[in-house]
Amino acid sequence: MNPSDPHPPASEPTPRRIEARPSDVGGIVLRRAVPSRALRSVGAWCFLDHAGPAQFAPGQGMHVGPHPHIGLQTFTWMIEGELMHRDSLGSEQLIRAGQVNLMTAGRGIVHSEDQVGDGGALHAAQMWIALPDAERERAPAFQHYPELPLIERDGVTITLLVGEVLGERSPVQVFTPLVGLDLATRREAQTTLPLAPAFEHAVLVLRGSATVAGEALQPGTLLDLGRGRSSVAMQLAADSQMLLLGGEPFGPAPLLWWNFVARTQAEIEQALADWNSGSARFGAVPGAGSARLVAPPLAGLRLKAGR
Ligand code: MN
Repeated sequence: MNPSDPHPPASEPTPRRIEARPSDVGGIVLRRAVPSRALRSVGAWCFLDHAGPAQFAPGQGMHVGPHPHIGLQTFTWMIEGELMHRDSLGSEQLIRAGQVNLMTAGRGIVHSEDQVGDGGALHAAQMWIALPDAERERAPAFQHYPELPLIERDGVTITLLVGEVLGERSPVQVFTPLVGLDLATRREAQTTLPLAPAFEHAVLVLRGSATVAGEALQPGTLLDLGRGRSSVAMQLAADSQMLLLGGEPFGPAPLLWWNFVARTQAEIEQALADWNSGSARFGAVPGAGSARLVAPPLAGLRLKAGR
């Protein structure tokens, strides 16, 4: 497929099932659904971790020490529990269920994330949004969105995380055409949602189960819906929750290494050197609750750009 082609395919693509890979970050087991060998990104959504649901014993919790980012926005969607975000701009922000933290790394930022309280539940999704070339060097920024637009449709509660749907628009500031929806049910429900045919889309069940475009899904399986759909039919079981992400094809897939999103290996090497030397490019996180993360060695890694 040619990403610069403004005309989407004439027929709907066959959905593809992609298994998320288990990983461990900061003491919590999570499933990494994007990127994978099969799917480098969905629009500019270039990373999707589904963390939990986990139940921590008293005195335990998720703690991710200060670490750097470049070239992306981190998008944190809380489902259950509370996290404290701190960053090198001096931001200190508690995030609760139903809220979004959006951190725009631009040329460089450092942040830490610590579970709040004594043990308890934690369930969240963290996505990264690759910044387009014109915005990659912008100054870092942090925004907290305590409330997002809610839409009730056929028994499905839609939280509009990013972009536009059904005449509503999200306040979340992004730099490429994107959509992000959280779909939640209390009782079994079915609906059909309009989609932008120029976007590529994917869905991931976070809780419960769903059938989307004829495919039965549970947590751990991403369904790649491809590009060229004008709608998608879905059925959600009772007490279920699902993410739907989409966007215009980003073009050549961005280069991801550790917490960096770039275009060339030289940019990654420079960011790594700046982090390891304690450069003012990144700075420090005031009040961080745990130790600064050490970058893995770059040597021996084969970096691949493009699809
Ligand atoms: Mn991070």
